[in-house]
Amino acid sequence: RNETQYYFGAGPAQLPKPVIIQLSKDIVNINNQGIGIGEISHRSKLAQDIIDNTRENLYKLLSNNGNIDIEDIKKQYDVFFLQGGGTTGFSSIPLNFKKYNQAQNKKGGYIISGSWSLKSYQEAKRLGCDVVPLYNDKEVNGEFKGSYTGNYETLLSKHDDLSYVYVCENETVNGIEYDQTLKELAKVCKQKNIDLISDLSSDIFSREINIFDYGVIMAGAQKNIGIAGLTLYIVKKSILANIKTSGNIEELPIAFDWNLQNDNNSCYNTIPMVPLHTLNLVFEHLLNAGGIVAQEKINFEKAEMLYDVLDKYSLEGNNEKKFVKLTVSKQFRSKMNVVFNLKTTDLENDFVKKAEASGFSAIKGHRSVGGIRVSIYNAVKLEAVESLIKFVEEFAEQL
Ligand code: PMP
Repeated sequence: RNETQYYFGAGPAQLPKPVIIQLSKDIVNINNQGIGIGEISHRSKLAQDIIDNTRENLYKLLSNNGNIDIEDIKKQYDVFFLQGGGTTGFSSIPLNFKKYNQAQNKKGGYIISGSWSLKSYQEAKRLGCDVVPLYNDKEVNGEFKGSYTGNYETLLSKHDDLSYVYVCENETVNGIEYDQTLKELAKVCKQKNIDLISDLSSDIFSREINIFDYGVIMAGAQKNIGIAGLTLYIVKKSILANIKTSGNIEELPIAFDWNLQNDNNSCYNTIPMVPLHTLNLVFEHLLNAGGIVAQEKINFEKAEMLYDVLDKYSLEGNNEKKFVKLTVSKQFRSKMNVVFNLKTTDLENDFVKKAEASGFSAIKGHRSVGGIRVSIYNAVKLEAVESLIKFVEEFAEQL
């Protein structure tokens, strides 16, 4: 590996160096057993121990360095890991709720704040589930710029039949992440006995969350916490009990039957052990490095530094070298995916080309929106962002 290269890919993304080194050894020989992690049976004692240990570490991370009692979390939430990614995650959510919703005359409400929450809503609808859009930022602002800023009590009072409200907490393509307003939404949901469901695929364990705000957390592994192939689910036991009582619709694939998988320690079918073990190595790495509290501090610092330099050259400012267009509202700026445009497409191409030549790779925006996207997940070091900032300054100088 060329260590001078800085990688800012949106996912799959960089892993912490100690993790990739350990993983490469364990691929060849896990625990001195003379066989690799991808070769052992998922039902072996070793694999079962790894699954259990991963779950324990996940609970530890959710405790926010001991500030939340782990036993309280365990009493209320189950954790399981399934084959797949974000798409299997957001498809399985409405399907697992479908029969329960039919029996209760309830629906899923979607807050649409970017490409992934939009896709999640569209897929739920395509699967014939009873879902309703509660808010669509693109319809309000012409393009995705953030999320709902009004009163959640008012928004939710328009619907008295919601079993869940779905959000994508960090929109990876659009660079939109919820701020403290999510707490407000969680509060109103609780008052109304609605479960808050969140796609945390691209910001899980990048900052502290209060697990008790959520009914379901779903996250694909391949950005902050591992490699592709696995989805993690944290689901309130009361939800699992409710949907078990109602039974499943025929269209629910057994591989994505939450209760079946949860009752079988995530091993009803073959759990992919390489991604699962990678997840655990990342969890151990995070815990040893001061947990989420420490990681959050670094992440906030990285994002602040980067937005500062972009603001300095913003077209809305009065710097004579201004060339940066930031469309996401300040309140909802993602701390994981910093998305922006430059004055012209030619300038964007030039920026990407020069950045690559200087060792900064994978900063081209998502093909659906263009522009630039710098993803600064947990494994991206502060120095990488500092170097990129220097590059931005030098680029501005040449204009
Ligand atoms: N949700 C979010 C927030 C995402 O960023 C992505 C893309 N990685 C997905 C869902 C879809 O994930 P996958 O490609 O693993 O199906």
